[in-house]
Amino acid sequence: MLLHAFVPSSRANGPGLRAVVYFQGCTLKCTGCWNLSTHKFRGKDVSIASVVQRFEDARKSAALEGVTFSGGEPMQQAPALAELIDQIRRVAPGASFGMFTGYTKDELVTGDYVTRPRTSVANRTELWRSIAAHLDFAVMGRYDHTSPAVEALRTSRNQELVLLSSRYREGNFEQQLVEISIEPSGNSVVTGFPVLGFPV
Ligand code: SF4
Repeated sequence: MLLHAFVPSSRANGPGLRAVVYFQGCTLKCTGCWNLSTHKFRGKDVSIASVVQRFEDARKSAALEGVTFSGGEPMQQAPALAELIDQIRRVAPGASFGMFTGYTKDELVTGDYVTRPRTSVANRTELWRSIAAHLDFAVMGRYDHTSPAVEALRTSRNQELVLLSSRYREGNFEQQLVEISIEPSGNSVVTGFPVLGFPV
């Protein structure tokens, strides 16, 4: 899979302490997107097992509640995402899963999205069905820079926080936060909601 970044623990991406997996690649071109460096389908091509290992390592130093998938666009690598969820579920059966996607629920349910490698509408519909069966929540819809939101996890008002299991209620999602993580390599990753702009 093409990986943009892995954040071992975050409080800004859903309930509790969560690892965040940023997929590399997005073709949706929302005007004003904050994550331009995640758009190209080029970058670190890593094995799914190596991402699971990073999750396992992260769990040794923090009591993680689950994983949030972000990007880029996770659903544009849906086969890898489905496999990643499956492998994490095996090592952490109680983990919760959340996702940020630029697609709406209708688009995903009907297979009206692009994914790599390319596959049929029937396969895309089935991929979403199998992924959704494991997700506890998803923030869905394109980012609309003309309509900023203040609600938990949403960057614009058109986006929906969809609860896909009974694990959480809307009240479990806290106000927007911004976090800056410094990786051992010295790289920094900004995650969450930098509504006042990025630090310089
Ligand atoms: S879906 Fe997300 S990553 Fe893709 S262009 Fe829109 S805001 Fe950016």
